[in-house]
Amino acid sequence: MPRLASRMSRAVPSAIMAVAEKAKRLKAEGRDIISFSIGVPGFLPGPHVYEAARAALAKDSGAYGSNRGPDALLDAWIGFLARNGLPGYTRREVATGVGGKHVLFQVMYALFDEGDEILIPTPYWTSYVDIAEILGLKIKLLRCGSEHDYKVSAERLAEALTPDTRGVLLNNPSNPTGMVYSREEMQGIADVLAGHSCWILSDDIYSQLIFDGIGWQNVLKCRPELRDRTIIMDSISKSYGMPGWRVGYLAGPAAVADAVTTLNSNSITNLPEVVNAAAIAALNGPQDATVQACADFAKKRDLVLAALDGLPGIHCPRPQGAFYVFPDISGCFGKRHGDRVIETDADFCDALLEAKGVACVPGRAFGEPNALRISYACADAVLADGLARIADFVRSLV
Ligand code: PLP
Repeated sequence: MPRLASRMSRAVPSAIMAVAEKAKRLKAEGRDIISFSIGVPGFLPGPHVYEAARAALAKDSGAYGSNRGPDALLDAWIGFLARNGLPGYTRREVATGVGGKHVLFQVMYALFDEGDEILIPTPYWTSYVDIAEILGLKIKLLRCGSEHDYKVSAERLAEALTPDTRGVLLNNPSNPTGMVYSREEMQGIADVLAGHSCWILSDDIYSQLIFDGIGWQNVLKCRPELRDRTIIMDSISKSYGMPGWRVGYLAGPAAVADAVTTLNSNSITNLPEVVNAAAIAALNGPQDATVQACADFAKKRDLVLAALDGLPGIHCPRPQGAFYVFPDISGCFGKRHGDRVIETDADFCDALLEAKGVACVPGRAFGEPNALRISYACADAVLADGLARIADFVRSLV
């Protein structure tokens, strides 16, 4: 067989998927497994979304569609942005893709050459680094551990940026930490970025899932003049409980939206009509399911924090968004579970899965090996059971 492209030696399957697959396999073998591994929001959109999909199916033309996305979807996304404090985008400044991950891939492909430096605060969503690796970028990580509440401060960002920095990735609320930036924090970040002429990639996929009434912030709300080099990326996956429908979108300079449209024309061609209709209905229709999901997640967040509170060796900054908690477990390192010494996050997660049947993703998958990620978008009874097992496990360490 001839060889694969050399870039494939840098491509790795998603670490999160690997944990989810293992949990699935153990379950299939008859083990009693609770999976807190994968980031599926666990709610469904309202009936209007399914009605729109059925209506589109009934009058399906079977034709190819627009590479950028149909006007009605572009307008729905522009309307969503305006409702969330980012008005004034035009159709030329937006484009769609097959989910947020595909949009991110296309944007990074369009903006960066091999060897370009990209600054990624950690903990990061795994695909930022995985995609940057595939594209051969120079990855500069800025570690923001639990002692920093997992957030990048203006001061530390200013220290990390150099004239070589071609792009910065921001994610608010964050996966894996659920942490949310305040207005003051985001203003500081925007002020620093105003002094550096790099691209700003703003992944706002969890913007609708923010608790405690603190509101969503973004560099463009703080510094509108950054619009000529900021790309907002989002999708229907988390906000509307529709990860499998695969609709993502971006807003940014027309040249970037055009570039992604060109890449679409050479790869996916278009999103399917039925899927587009469902996305338009989700964006334009009643937002009740999203509002309810957000309220439910806030209560689940409280359950998780209450269960972790006071556990020996565990320290957890308080998340205010998304559906993740990211406890620092480094206080457990060096302790024993039975004969096994827990030296790392991977040891901890492995032993927890073996002993208690609870699957969590080791923090190293997100660039923070002192922690693990709990994705808590599951039924309350399952959550309570899983949390009790984690508490038992941690208390059993000596
Ligand atoms: N960005 C972040 C931070 C995510 O957590 C995810 C999914 O987990 C995505 C982007 C991509 O989501 P999707 O491709 O399902 O739209």
